[in-house]
Amino acid sequence: MHPERFKITALTAARNMVLLARQIEEFNPGLIAVLDKEKAFELSKILQGNNKPEIVFGEAGFIEAASYKNSNIVLLAMVGAAGLKPALAAIEAKKHIALANKETLVMAGEIVMARAKANQVSILPVDSEHSAIFQCLMGNQQKDLKTIFLTASGGPFRKKAFNTFKDITLKDALNHPTWNMGNKITIDSATMMNKGLEIIEAVHLFDVSHEKIEVLIHPQSIVHSMVGYKDGSVMAQMGQPDMKGAISYALSEPDRLDLQMDFPAFADIGSLTFEKPDIKKFPSIELAFQACRQKGTMPAVMNAANEVAVEAFLEKRINFLDIFKLISKTMEVHTCIDNPDLLSIIKADIWAREQATSQI
Ligand code: MG
Repeated sequence: MHPERFKITALTAARNMVLLARQIEEFNPGLIAVLDKEKAFELSKILQGNNKPEIVFGEAGFIEAASYKNSNIVLLAMVGAAGLKPALAAIEAKKHIALANKETLVMAGEIVMARAKANQVSILPVDSEHSAIFQCLMGNQQKDLKTIFLTASGGPFRKKAFNTFKDITLKDALNHPTWNMGNKITIDSATMMNKGLEIIEAVHLFDVSHEKIEVLIHPQSIVHSMVGYKDGSVMAQMGQPDMKGAISYALSEPDRLDLQMDFPAFADIGSLTFEKPDIKKFPSIELAFQACRQKGTMPAVMNAANEVAVEAFLEKRINFLDIFKLISKTMEVHTCIDNPDLLSIIKADIWAREQATSQI
């Protein structure tokens, strides 16, 4: 919508080469990174003419794209732990990051934020809740912050009786009521682990204690999160549940772009409701708070176990309730390492994947 303001210099994708080829034709980037050699070959065959961009692949390829010389901001939207190394590469190359990959901060938030500070680059939130918090913090002082109200739609099972959770099918879990997203995050929303990950993401992004974060179920998804200050005043950021707003703000702030989006139809919506999450039904929120208290390698272990569990659920190898069991059991048997370096975090991630896999 704003070609006068943005130029896409590099594009990455995992598997959908047909869509990627269309985007290359439209935006003419200089560098492309894809999942593996086979996908690179597939893309190269689809692309016509002699004006082809350079195509690289695999982890090294994604790292090359993240640190590409002609860019100044990297929109990091990979899924899961795979985003960590490209994020660090972008930071070392002094690129600002618009961050949609929360797992990067969950795994190694302290290291990522410290390196960003040392390289004087910004980590700008794309996650809608964190974009909202970021906006609610503007014009205020960190020292006056009292509580972050992290809102959640509650997912598809908010009203479902706990004794029927064992019968939840993959199809039920992939049917999100308000947001249209990829498979991994949609399952994370159904288990509310997405909110758990977002608690840890907020701790690092905004340098706040987890004790200042409160999760609120808000089924209408109009309030995208709120910040409460010590004088009792609360700032909320609202809008339609559409990721365009958060993506665009990360790329344009402090300017706001004309996105030709309607305001929420307040009079039609009528009321906005809030309730406390049911911790018994959704133990993931408590697991995340526990990981925050234990710190060290525990958040990375929680994240890795969750990735393995979600994948197994997507492949119908475990049932819905097994996801919680698998994560909690993996955390329970992990010997947490305090103040880990990057290598210890990566090792803990690998350990947790093996541990969770052997449990399955
Ligand atoms: Mg979110």
